[in-house]
Parts: sequence; structure tokens; C-alpha cells
Amino acid sequence: MSEEINTKEKFCTACKRWLPIDKFSGDKHSPDLHYYICKECTNQRARDLRRKKAEKKKELERQEIEQRTEAKTKLNQSTPRELMEELLARGFEGELTIITTFKLANGQIINTSNFKGLK
Ligand SMILES: [Zn+2]
Repeated sequence: MSEEINTKEKFCTACKRWLPIDKFSGDKHSPDLHYYICKECTNQRARDLRRKKAEKKKELERQEIEQRTEAKTKLNQSTPRELMEELLARGFEGELTIITTFKLANGQIINTSNFKGLK
């Protein structure tokens, strides 16, 4: 009886091979109580899925950084008035202190603050 089970083979629908039944994981929902793809293919699918998930996560992180950089650049290029209007629109309340830094060099006045609107 046990010998009969050990010699039994099953067709893996993923790698299209006939393999000994012990190369398949147990599955109580399957009519023959074994999973429809072999352990090797199950592991490969799990690896592929993990890789795809990791790639998707990386792509989402890249997009988020890009969006933040864009938003930061937009804010840095806005005038104090535009900045205040943006903060109001986002529901912020309170005091806003804007510090403007100028650099005097080579006979020129250079605005080195983030807010290029302050000249
Ligand atoms: Zn397989």
C-alpha cells in the first residue's frame, strides 16, 4: 500500500513533467490531496512573486521621492505670498517666519535663501 503511494506519479502543470507524488506538497482541497504544481515550481513561483513585490515597492518608493523632490522644488521657487497661500489651502494656521539670506561677494548681492521670491 505504502509502496504504491511512493511510486505514484503526478503531472505538474507548471513544468509539464511527470514527477513522484512526494515532489508535491499536500493539499487537502485537491481530489488527490496534493498540490497541482510540484514543490520546485511552488518555490520558484514564491521567489518570482517576492521579486515582483520588491520591484513594485522599489518603484513606488522611487515615485514618492520624485514627487517629494518636485513638491520641494516648487515650494523653493515660490514667493512668500504663494507659500502662505499654499499653507492656507492645506489648512495650516499660525505664524510664519521667513528668513532671507544674502551673500555679498565680488561686488554682487546674491540671494542664497530657499525662497527666490525674496530679492
Ligand atoms: Zn513543476
